[in-house]
Amino acid sequence: MKKNLSIILPCYNEEEVLPISSEKIMGVLLDLINKGKISNDSNIVFVDDGSSDKTWTLIERLVDSDSNHYNGIKLSRNFGHQNALMAGMTSQVDKADMIITIDADLQDDIAVIEDMVDAYNKGYDVVYGVRNNRDSDTAFKRKTAETFYKLMNKAGIEMVPNHADFRLLSQRAVNTLLSFPEKNLFLRGLVPLVGYPNTKVYYSRKKREAGESKYPLKKMISFAKEGLTSFTILPITFVRNLGYIVLSIGVIYTIYTLIQWSKGAVENGWSSIIITLWLLGGFQLISISIIGEYIGKIYWEVKHRPRFIIETNLTGEVKEDHER
Ligand code: UDP
Ligand code: MG
Repeated sequence: MKKNLSIILPCYNEEEVLPISSEKIMGVLLDLINKGKISNDSNIVFVDDGSSDKTWTLIERLVDSDSNHYNGIKLSRNFGHQNALMAGMTSQVDKADMIITIDADLQDDIAVIEDMVDAYNKGYDVVYGVRNNRDSDTAFKRKTAETFYKLMNKAGIEMVPNHADFRLLSQRAVNTLLSFPEKNLFLRGLVPLVGYPNTKVYYSRKKREAGESKYPLKKMISFAKEGLTSFTILPITFVRNLGYIVLSIGVIYTIYTLIQWSKGAVENGWSSIIITLWLLGGFQLISISIIGEYIGKIYWEVKHRPRFIIETNLTGEVKEDHER
């Protein structure tokens, strides 16, 4: 029997790019259906992550035009890219044998979707889309990304370099992924923890088809949203900065005291006491702030807030985060 595929596209204010991407991605889906690689009831699912433009109207129109192959899910507000992906996967996992997630701007190469499906048919549960170049990125983004992957690897976090959220997951891999309860979602780090046979397909990433990157804007929105809670995180930052200041003063003072001491200009014992005092003070403040960062994370986890809230599902039932 042919397997069912769901392609999930998170959309946040993507009215400019949606008409182009929906057509292109539908082309790929129909091609795969015609080639007999996936079942005829495979579909494309748009997750509207609380857009404020015409994104949802466009999605509704698409679903109206072909509700067998399009589905639309609307979140009750903006939950962020990663949560939108979780919402999409949660709603599709019961019927989809495999799920592909891809950005709505189609910066990733839709031509390799077929390779992903082929890999699935060969028995792979996880197929990572990996960029083989970063030409479309600025030098700054390339450098920061490289440093980031190096740091993560050093910290023992197994990640696939140059892989973003373009991947295929089998039904059992999605089910396993959905059983991870954490709220601070970072799918790139989580998916490797799922295990199962996995492989990579390579492609070159293009520039956005239309519209603008939602990330700078998104960051600003989340800043505003978290304005209320920031007082719980600001003191930690304050303590950390204070730690740096105290430590710097400590270092300067150490040098000064040692010079004074070598001239015999200070009382016995005074130098060692004053140096220890300042250096230890600085180290302690920094240590406290590091512990604070972790406590901050625990604080978010214990709340058990839903990671997404689905308001509407145009062709299926509305599922909640805790139903998994
Ligand atoms: N996105 C989302 N919610 C957000 C921000 C972004 O669903 O709060 C979606 C966005 O519509 C796109 C994908 O996540 O499909 C990646 O965003 P974008 O292309 O802006 O990021 P970039 O490619 O610039 O890193
Ligand atoms: Mg993009």
